[in-house]
Amino acid sequence: MKILELTSTELTHEIKRLYGKGEYYAQAVYRQIYCHGNTDFKHVKEFQNSRKLVRELKMALELNACPVVGEQKEGDLTKFITKLKDNLQIESVIIPMETYQTLCVSTQVGCRMGCRFCATGQLGFLRNLTIEEIVGQLYTAKFFYGMDIRNVVFMGMGEPFDNFDNVIQAIRVMSDPKGLNVPKSRITISTAGMVDGILKLAELNWSDLNLAVSLNAPNNRIRSSIMPINRSVPMEKLKEVLLGYPLSKSRNFLVGYILIKDLNDTHRHALDLAKFLRPLRVKLNLIPYNRCSDSLFAPPSDEHIRRFQRWLVNEKFFVRTRSIRGRNVTSACGQLGKKQ
Ligand code: SF4
Repeated sequence: MKILELTSTELTHEIKRLYGKGEYYAQAVYRQIYCHGNTDFKHVKEFQNSRKLVRELKMALELNACPVVGEQKEGDLTKFITKLKDNLQIESVIIPMETYQTLCVSTQVGCRMGCRFCATGQLGFLRNLTIEEIVGQLYTAKFFYGMDIRNVVFMGMGEPFDNFDNVIQAIRVMSDPKGLNVPKSRITISTAGMVDGILKLAELNWSDLNLAVSLNAPNNRIRSSIMPINRSVPMEKLKEVLLGYPLSKSRNFLVGYILIKDLNDTHRHALDLAKFLRPLRVKLNLIPYNRCSDSLFAPPSDEHIRRFQRWLVNEKFFVRTRSIRGRNVTSACGQLGKKQ
């Protein structure tokens, strides 16, 4: 039984099926593992008279949080590298907010989307992460680093919708109120624009989950030049699918826009972007491009970033410019997976 792949209800069914015991024990197991990070039930009061069951559970339960093999810090921000069973490595980032932490998780080793501004995309695709490898990143952040993780963003290595089933089950486990308890309203999936994934998510009707789209261009010509997915799913198609998405009244789509000097950062681009987004309810997140050693692109100046933001605010959009924390430890957006 891979505990990091199960919700409390699923664990209850499994324990009942295997041992004929019910919810009382299953809830105790779940609480110990997910609320206290404890896998030794010997001294837990619910098991005081059930030595045999403790032995059997210890044999049956697998908790494979992969080991942390590397770590880099910039201020309070921590990037940690986990080694998977097949020796591949993934990266996750703990981002400090004012009173809590946000965890950025990976969903694949590498990525097949090939976005030209992204270090992960340049790695190519190696494989999907399993459910426990995704949930394990949150488990590690909570119990290895002792962090109070309130938000989870699926913005690390990989395209989440390219690993749809595992990502969805990972969200079920992460948001289980009896366990890790990160509510869906504090979870964000970010996609490069895989419309079949957006449609499948819409069918789940998880209206409180946040959906982010990495747009990065004001028109098809520029978007296709930096994001190959746009050649098969042009922006009009993406917009059509978003317009049909059952977005709850209290929510907005989050739209990521990586600002790249002389590519997508002129006044005309801001106006075209505003025109494209006008029918959608969005919050815009401007992300200054992060230069890597072998970069094809350059970031705009701080002054120009402010100007671009003003142009969009004048068009009545809510716009935030993401601070560039983590740039020095290659944990900023588009840098995960980059060779040090
Ligand atoms: S930006 Fe996201 S979707 Fe594009 S290559 Fe990088 S990880 Fe993949």
